[in-house]
Amino acid sequence: MINTNISCYGCGVCSLVCKSFAITIQMSGDGFWQPKIDLTRCTNCGQCENVCSYTHPDIIQPKDKIESQAYSIVTKDRKLLSEVSSGGAGYELGKLFLKNNYKVFGVEYDNNKNIASHIVIKSENELKKIIGSKYLQSYTVDAFKQVDIKEKYIFFGCPCQIDSLRRFTRNKNIERNWFFVDFFCHGVPSYHLWEKYSRHYVKKNTRIMGVKFRDKCNGWHKSMTMTMTMTNSIIYSRTLRKNDYFLNMFFGNYVLNESCYNCKFHGLNSAADIRIGDFWGRKYKNNKTGVSGAIVLTQAGCDTIKKLYQSCIIHEEDINTLLEGQIVNEIKPPKNRRFILEKLKTNMFLPLLYFIFAYKRWLKNSIPIGIKKIIRKYF
Ligand SMILES: Cc1cc2nc3c(=O)[nH]c(=O)nc-3n(C[C@H](O)[C@H](O)[C@H](O)COP(=O)(O)OP(=O)(O)OC[C@H]3O[C@@H](n4cnc5c(N)ncnc54)[C@H](O)[C@@H]3O)c2cc1C
Repeated sequence: MINTNISCYGCGVCSLVCKSFAITIQMSGDGFWQPKIDLTRCTNCGQCENVCSYTHPDIIQPKDKIESQAYSIVTKDRKLLSEVSSGGAGYELGKLFLKNNYKVFGVEYDNNKNIASHIVIKSENELKKIIGSKYLQSYTVDAFKQVDIKEKYIFFGCPCQIDSLRRFTRNKNIERNWFFVDFFCHGVPSYHLWEKYSRHYVKKNTRIMGVKFRDKCNGWHKSMTMTMTMTNSIIYSRTLRKNDYFLNMFFGNYVLNESCYNCKFHGLNSAADIRIGDFWGRKYKNNKTGVSGAIVLTQAGCDTIKKLYQSCIIHEEDINTLLEGQIVNEIKPPKNRRFILEKLKTNMFLPLLYFIFAYKRWLKNSIPIGIKKIIRKYF
């Protein structure tokens, strides 16, 4: 039986394999999805532990693993490029697999519940629902209920979700029907931050209809913008650099899930066929429209990239150039993480919370760029 007293990845695969329906995924007191076990139903069969990425110190390796290869990918569809988070590799992969009779697992923002949820997509006209990064921990359970072991799937998700799912597919002998795409993952923040933040901007009795965590209206890179909309009108839009509270507290690692701080999936460590992400770093630093970086990890991944040349501009890249802007080591939890998590549960005014606890980011964002350049040059 998995240990539910620790803060695991919350991927939900344990609930998918539990034949006694003893496991549900619930929101923890700190605002993260966590499994709960009904001990009166549990038969101690060990299936949940067997698939759990968190309880295995190793990463499950695909059977057709190859030496990693790096690529830059940009969709040829200019309109699409303006809507996706980086270069549109995720969308183009989804489109390709749909044409080959796969179903697509991806993440949408669920405006009824104000959460990120995995959904199953069956046709190209639905694919735009999963466009864009949602910087929230996705709820997987309802989508997992739709898994049919006779069907073929491409699954987009966090590296930890994929590690557990590959274990599930291997146990069921259906691994060859699944293609896995993960991303360089920064971690997931507490839903208490998201709830406080969205409540701060949305008036009582109104509801957010759409969120773009990575709106490109001001550019890509550091001008990334958070935009929240109601029907046809923008409620709020602010860049990371202009001290958007959510993006800064997320990228500042203040309240990530505990398991994200000692994540084993940084750099090239993955159980997926392809890892995608933003091609941060120096090579594309002046690019304003977005470039995806992709690491191909398996033979199936390699065969897939060849099929993307029709819809995307693809270049082979040096792996270290691609890794330049990525997290490659463990992230240290800030000393006051517990304190901030507790404050998020109170009525404390969000701007005050931000200025007290994230004042270093506030200062960094408030110094004019010209002065920053001088500081960098002379100090
Ligand atoms: C929580 C999180 C942290 C990330 N951290 C990094 C990072 O440190 N470095 C980096 O380079 N890239 C990171 N990314 C990935 C990056 O933001 C882009 O998603 C990636 O570059 C793909 O871009 P695209 O243009 O192909 O995306 P799109 O075509 O816009 O596709 C994005 C894909 O991501 C999936 N997705 C969105 N939100 C979630 C979620 N919450 N959980 C699981 N899957 C989701 C969608 O289903 C979709 O398939 C992160 C993404 C998330 C969600």
